[in-house]
Amino acid sequence: MKVVKFGGSSLADAAQIGKALAIVAAEPERRFVVASAPGKRSADDVKVTDLLYRLQAEPDADRPATLARLRDRFGGIVNDLGVALDLGAEFALIERQLTLGAGPDYFASRGEYLNSKIIAAKLGWPFVDAAEVVRFDAAGQLLPEPTDAALAAALGGLDRAVVPGFYGAGPDGRVKTFTRGGSDITGALVARAVRADVYENWTDVSGVLMADPRVVEAPAPIRLISYADLRRLAAMGASVLHEAAVEPVRLAGIPINVRNTNRPADQGTWIQAEAPAPAPGAAPIVGLAGKVGFALIGVVESGARPSQEVAAAMARALAGAGVKVRFQAAQDGLRVVAVDSDRYEDAVRAMYRALVADYQ
Ligand code: ASP
Repeated sequence: MKVVKFGGSSLADAAQIGKALAIVAAEPERRFVVASAPGKRSADDVKVTDLLYRLQAEPDADRPATLARLRDRFGGIVNDLGVALDLGAEFALIERQLTLGAGPDYFASRGEYLNSKIIAAKLGWPFVDAAEVVRFDAAGQLLPEPTDAALAAALGGLDRAVVPGFYGAGPDGRVKTFTRGGSDITGALVARAVRADVYENWTDVSGVLMADPRVVEAPAPIRLISYADLRRLAAMGASVLHEAAVEPVRLAGIPINVRNTNRPADQGTWIQAEAPAPAPGAAPIVGLAGKVGFALIGVVESGARPSQEVAAAMARALAGAGVKVRFQAAQDGLRVVAVDSDRYEDAVRAMYRALVADYQ
């Protein structure tokens, strides 16, 4: 059985949703759908999620225009798909939450919520609200085990269902969202909870590419990659799934198949525990990734303390400062860490404190 997650570009309008529905219909195994909010229809379009964040943040006087754009986008999808669904009551609720002063998470989540309602109505499948099954703590951190139990209980008795991505609820019942791109995480959580054989992640490229398509023309997709190698490429700047989306399926041993909604015949990329030995004649690398915006910090050790102790103190200092280490290596007495450029100063200060000041 498969869980199929569609990203925002795959569900940007009725035509794209039609392609997604055809993909679902092509295999009865595709029993659980996780949907994003409608994304961009063209390069200069605005994602529904961004409109919703804007709606919450803007002055009262600007809201009617943004609400009208949102009504138009969803109304257009409902009409073009020919779904018998009246969104009037839903929009009345959204307007009421505006007067009550609800926070950004609630509004941002409405893109996934409404899109999933529409898709569920079109398919004639049950809609399971993520607010009932994806659980966060009061600080906004996902609670993986309670979520797994709630999802398994809600979906276990269903043959098919549509679940909105990107959000859940905290202990007080209020909506909380993941960080941007978080519908990937919902898809993984659903796949784990229903013990899917495959987590299909449908997007607008034919898989994880071997190089940055903004730099290399039409790079080839990676056919098969291990979870660990994917993490390595992502840490170095490859843009793939949300970074928290791999863990739930990796733990459950479920492979991820990244596919292209616009080219459903392409086999995409398989992400799984082990990549088999490469075929003779295969490229000698899995892929290459990089990013403009890393800073390198070099540390030359004095030998006063064992190297492992220095590395551990350095890792603690950076973690304590909330700085992500993208890469590190030591060679010929030089230890180098790569961090995001905008965290360069924090990283240097934290390392100085831990490796010099604290020793004096
Ligand atoms: N719609 C949300 C975003 O734009 C979440 C997602 O698409 O995964 O980030």
